[in-house]
Amino acid sequence: MPEVQELSELLQRLHRALAAEADRGFGNIRGNRQYFSEFLSAALSEPPTGIAGADEQRRWQDLGKKFERYGELEAGARAHLVAETRRFLHRLRRSLEPPPVPKSNGRNSRSQPPPKPEVLEQPVSTLKGIGPKLAAQLEKLGLTTIGAVLRYFPRDYLDYTNRTTIKTCEVGQTVTIVAQVRRASCFTSPRNHKLAVFSLTLGDGTGQMQLSQFFAGSRFTNRGWQEGQLKRFPRGATVAASGLVRRGKAGLTLHEPQLEVLDEEESTDHLRRIVPVYPLVEGVGAGVVRRAVTAALPFADALVDPLPASIRTSAGLMETAEAIRAVHYPESLEQKTAARRRLVFDEFFFLQLGLLQRRWRQKKRSEGIAFRTQGELIEQFYGLLPFALTGAQKRVVQEVLTDLASPEPMNRLVQGDVGSGKTVIAVIAMLAAIQSGYQTALMAPTEVLAEQHYQKLVQWFAQLHLPVELITGSVRATRRREVLRQLATGELRVVVGTHALIQDGVQFANLGLAVIDEQHRFGVNQRARLQNKGRNPDVLTMTATPIPRTLALTLHGDLDVSQVDELPPGRKPIRTTVVTPAERSAVIELIRRQVLEGRQVYVVLPLIEESEKSDLRSAFEEHERLKEKVFPEFRVGLLHGRLKSEQKEEVITAFRAHTLDILVSTTVVEVGVDVPNASLMLIEHAERFGLAQLHQLRGRVGRGASQSFCLLMSASKSEAALQRLKVLEQSTDGFFIAEMDLRLRGPGEVIGTRQSGLPDMVLSSLIEDQETLERSRHEAQALIERDPELTSFPLLRTELGSRLDRLMDGAILT
Ligand code: ADP
Ligand code: MG
Repeated sequence: MPEVQELSELLQRLHRALAAEADRGFGNIRGNRQYFSEFLSAALSEPPTGIAGADEQRRWQDLGKKFERYGELEAGARAHLVAETRRFLHRLRRSLEPPPVPKSNGRNSRSQPPPKPEVLEQPVSTLKGIGPKLAAQLEKLGLTTIGAVLRYFPRDYLDYTNRTTIKTCEVGQTVTIVAQVRRASCFTSPRNHKLAVFSLTLGDGTGQMQLSQFFAGSRFTNRGWQEGQLKRFPRGATVAASGLVRRGKAGLTLHEPQLEVLDEEESTDHLRRIVPVYPLVEGVGAGVVRRAVTAALPFADALVDPLPASIRTSAGLMETAEAIRAVHYPESLEQKTAARRRLVFDEFFFLQLGLLQRRWRQKKRSEGIAFRTQGELIEQFYGLLPFALTGAQKRVVQEVLTDLASPEPMNRLVQGDVGSGKTVIAVIAMLAAIQSGYQTALMAPTEVLAEQHYQKLVQWFAQLHLPVELITGSVRATRRREVLRQLATGELRVVVGTHALIQDGVQFANLGLAVIDEQHRFGVNQRARLQNKGRNPDVLTMTATPIPRTLALTLHGDLDVSQVDELPPGRKPIRTTVVTPAERSAVIELIRRQVLEGRQVYVVLPLIEESEKSDLRSAFEEHERLKEKVFPEFRVGLLHGRLKSEQKEEVITAFRAHTLDILVSTTVVEVGVDVPNASLMLIEHAERFGLAQLHQLRGRVGRGASQSFCLLMSASKSEAALQRLKVLEQSTDGFFIAEMDLRLRGPGEVIGTRQSGLPDMVLSSLIEDQETLERSRHEAQALIERDPELTSFPLLRTELGSRLDRLMDGAILT
């Protein structure tokens, strides 16, 4: 019997891994320790003893072999292999524990007992109206079981309750029209070769309307895609189109319309309803998913609600089964909102529960270091500082010192705008570690930045008679050997460096505190590797790319977060202006005037998407142009990522020493470079950057006492793009800007949906419904404080366990 138990658990794990891989578009996702393909090929290498049949054993191993080469397969072949494996495992599972096979044909009436939870594991082919052909289509979406169908959430809705005719449309209304395709065309924009335009003329007997959709990216300018798009909208097909009515060049039109081709039956059936729109892949029609969902809905009652009733009531949440039913076919928009709220609550709640529980266990397990936070060194350092700490700095120093003094290992993130003075905070923490007899390391993402920190630390620590050393890729071998020796013996207490610090050869005698600057530039593994150079050292991470609190909780739920939300006094805010190519001559004049006044200027060029090569070319060309044609009288330098580190250092040193007036650069100046005399930054093609990155970039100027300027050059005609840039004209508050960025670009874009491993639904709530997120965080926290192992909540425990694997595969819980 335990054999069967074990096998069934293994099958569950495989099932979850396969489902997660399908969810993320077959990208060979990386879990905690290994890639999906590694996990599969290892797990399928030896058939477990619970499998008796010789055929099954052979099949098991065959599949294992195939996964060894999964990484080399194309997306289609990957999907195929995953589907094949899921089918096979499914059959195996069914043969292990043959459960009852209910065939229901309608919603359960109250008198009937609810279906058993096992139903949810039944293959979709047991659903009414779903034969092998449709089942195969559903499988492409990873929908193999009834439960999976129930949890396949719509990405949007068509609101037929807003349905109008073309003739009755009014500007400013959000409407849905149902009409026939009269004409369709799809072509690459003659003005922008990376943009495809899809144009559709619809008629419904009351009038005609022309709609356009735009698709940016080389995938869409490809003939094949465009022809495929036309095939989806043949003449005469019935289409539902929703969106905001606007006045266009050719009469009324819909802004960013949602389009959907309806099949016969649907176009009459859905009248006056809110109809779900599901994410689809090629070869799977919208009707198929809807049919499966409709057939699966009666089984929603089999879903066990894992939330204790007390939480459900206090947070005002629907029950699970009700939420699932309503999220697919809501009776009103209000009901849809309430259903989503419940489902988002769950997603976030279990994520937070997992994070908080993990942190609780970590703290319980690992005895950290209780540092001495009062003492000689820190006192002396305060005496050396030429300025008083700001209120925010004082507060954050206090938070950090409290963590350091406690025996629990610290894991704190300090967020603060560029120039808010995070370095001083780190230095104070480092001094606490040193005066307690420990070593400390500061890791930065680039050589330039590491070098700069090193210079600053040397300056301060020399007065405290503390030697500091630097380890980067360009430190000479003999010097490096000596530094490594001193670290290993413990002679050397303080080291600054880049990734070079986490290489295998680097050993510390007793690393007590690891400080990581610009933490978002490091991978989770890199951070962990530095941490592992000591025994439960305290970790302080810093970032100048602040993110709104809810997002911080999502991404770093197991960190404590401090905010340095005040700049040192006397800074003149950078004056930022959005400019167009028509104003270029005025821009050149402004640059000239700054240089003549003895100031220095940055000209920044963006990363252009296709290739690093063309990036370089544009930087080269711009450098040439400025040097030869525009400013022949000035000294113009060039900095880019392909330079060797000595060359980079040379250029930066020259700029710092003011033997260059103008520095043309790619975004490598983004972090670190600190030249107080630089007073103007011109950013070309500004619309291609995220707001947070632009804000970070412009932080390179405004470091001195004089007025500084940032000019955002954009030729974009898009109202939205310009609107976005205007945010920077109006604000210099990094937190506000990050929040606006999130609103305007969407969280998926900002943090990367794939990367986060969070469902879209949660991502969109980061903006729309922060209250629900805060609420679920709060409930999870209360629960973990009361019952960290969830001993009295078996349902919660089970649910958390089954969700954890999926969460672990995202970036969040790694
Ligand atoms: P960041 O938060 O971007 O890392 P830094 O730590 O590099 O900022 O600080 C930016 C500059 O401000 C440094 O030159 C630093 O010495 C100075 N500075 C830091 N704190 C204060 C303060 N309280 N008053 C005046 N200047 C300060
Ligand atoms: Mg800094």
